[in-house]
Amino acid sequence: MSIRYYSTNRNLNNVAGITPFASSVSFKEALLMGQAPDEGLFVPDSIPQLLINDILKLRGKPYWQTAMLVAQAFLADEFSKEVLEVVVKDAYNFPVPLEAVYPRAFVMRLDQGPTASFKDFAARMMARLMSHCRAKGERINILVATSGDTGSAVGEAYKRVAGIDVTILYPAAEVSLMQKKQLDTIGGNVHALCVEGKFDDCQNLVKVAFSDPELAVFNLSSANSINFGRILPQIVYYIYAYAELAGAGEEVIFSVPSGNFGDALGCEYARRMGLPVAKLVMPTNENDEFPIFLETGKYKKVSPSRACISNAMNVGHPSNLARFFELYGGTVDRVGNVHRYPDIEEMRRHIYSVTVSDGQTRETIKSVYERYHVIMEQHGAVGWAGLEDYFQKTGEEKLAICLETAHPAKFPEEIKQLLGVTPEMPDSMKDLAKRKGSAINIANDYDTFKGYLQKNLKIKE
Ligand SMILES: *Cc1c(COP(=O)(O)O)cnc(C)c1O
Repeated sequence: MSIRYYSTNRNLNNVAGITPFASSVSFKEALLMGQAPDEGLFVPDSIPQLLINDILKLRGKPYWQTAMLVAQAFLADEFSKEVLEVVVKDAYNFPVPLEAVYPRAFVMRLDQGPTASFKDFAARMMARLMSHCRAKGERINILVATSGDTGSAVGEAYKRVAGIDVTILYPAAEVSLMQKKQLDTIGGNVHALCVEGKFDDCQNLVKVAFSDPELAVFNLSSANSINFGRILPQIVYYIYAYAELAGAGEEVIFSVPSGNFGDALGCEYARRMGLPVAKLVMPTNENDEFPIFLETGKYKKVSPSRACISNAMNVGHPSNLARFFELYGGTVDRVGNVHRYPDIEEMRRHIYSVTVSDGQTRETIKSVYERYHVIMEQHGAVGWAGLEDYFQKTGEEKLAICLETAHPAKFPEEIKQLLGVTPEMPDSMKDLAKRKGSAINIANDYDTFKGYLQKNLKIKE
């Protein structure tokens, strides 16, 4: 029986502004739609189960084989084995290092992809799956508004993917020079528009375009982080790490530095598929709405969000909280109103969360380097600080794996200042300065943007 995907808002019958989407869609439909029409998030109606022996058999095998196991469990009814194999082999052609910090404690480095961010894992698989969802000969046009790193991960992921063009909008004054270079030089089927405005302006231009009937011929689609197609690939590395490091039946603790909770959600699904996860540790930066919720049982978003040095995690209301609530029997909407609280005792059994200040983050970067000679950047350090806090509070001793979500070389000033060393650039970033390419500058004006799209987007392959 194939898995169907329904909206987290499907039961919100008497809520102003929401018309619940009561039906369900296939994975392919969810992938192309991104979000449910009622602004809820798509969730699977059942979770496939893995056998522990099939997981343990993956030890020593290339990463794509774990991806294949997860992909087949969810997608076997909608994609052939041959297609899935091409997708995962092509998506995962880079290493996934597991670095020992001390005995039975590891850092999993998810920073070896083309943009040195863990977002490469999800974006690359999603892009390739989408390419196989097109009607024959048709073209899909992706529009993305970005404030920086997501845009380049998505852009790089879709580079040279058949039948798909990507247009990235970014705010002229809000991206760093390095980010601008990354966005401008992808090239090929990926086009960068530098908008004279703020990130919100970019988002608005994209939003209006999606609802413009005159642009419907272009098969517009999004690639944002709430797409279930970006969650599915994030289940894979938890299973991979377990197979590599755990003994038969051993329990593991994962620590996942968290912003919009998509990464941690991958771990939650992995556990529900049968992975022996003793605890999912989800540390946040000073945006502490979730640790406070777990402690008090009351949810209140942080608004406006707080600016911390782990800036990819500056989120005051995590978009994937809706999926976590759903899995534990609750409902929360896009703006952060709780309509039904989840089973908090059950949540506490499986999840631990703590807020980590910028000061603690910097101290952690220093102490991990001084004690273990391991270099972490500020996102991974939030994860490590949370793990240490968990061990201190519980006294537990178990296999532990902390995710490092970006490469330290992306933050050379911060690392140099704290450690006195300059982290070596990964190969993917070494040639950045030499890369050529430029963005098209456009005004923050919908008619100009629409004119650009009508002139440049293609309908057929
Ligand atoms: C996006 C991001 C995160 C947060 O991941 P979520 O899935 O949003 O919780 C953490 N670290 C880095 C470097 C990121 O880019």
